[in-house]
Amino acid sequence: MKIFAIGRNYAEHARELGNEIPEAPVIFMKPDTALLAPGAPFAYPEFSSDIHYELEVVLRICRGGRNIATEDARTHYDAITLGIDFTARDLQAKCKAKGLPWEIAKSFDGSAAQGEFVDVPAESEYRFSLRKNGVVCQDGNTRDMLNGCDSLIHHISRYFTLSPGDLVYTGTPSGVGPVSKGDLLEGFLGDRKLLTCTVV
Ligand code: ZN
Repeated sequence: MKIFAIGRNYAEHARELGNEIPEAPVIFMKPDTALLAPGAPFAYPEFSSDIHYELEVVLRICRGGRNIATEDARTHYDAITLGIDFTARDLQAKCKAKGLPWEIAKSFDGSAAQGEFVDVPAESEYRFSLRKNGVVCQDGNTRDMLNGCDSLIHHISRYFTLSPGDLVYTGTPSGVGPVSKGDLLEGFLGDRKLLTCTVV
């Protein structure tokens, strides 16, 4: 299986990191070794001292394809959850400054936390939020995506063949910040808790 992730898909988040609003979705990938089982703890890696959480809506592909039209995209994913795109912000800043690829900052072991999958909500706009130690730190709404879920499927499938079981991390809203050992992270879709991850 493949894990796709999208950078800068919420204008406010792009601004908070001082990035330009991209013309097309910024696509990157994580290997399957990045995936944490639902509920599994995140082990703070020794190579970074500035790991950030990024809460994201995650799509699960049920039907493969390539060059998928936006209008057909909805038939290619059948479940969603919330995930955390853990990011070594200190390493990412160094990579970005030198114009280098950022895999070591974004795609390391355990960098993709996932929650429990549920049916895709019937409505196209929904709220999702992250609590760190019980305090809301990200409060997003899918209506603020620069590229919606169906558009993302279209763009990704222009370059990469999608297969059943692939995941798409759809980008994070504003409010990203650091984690520390001992933190409890909880992701909510509306009022429903889908994700729990402790930092150890
Ligand atoms: Zn992200």
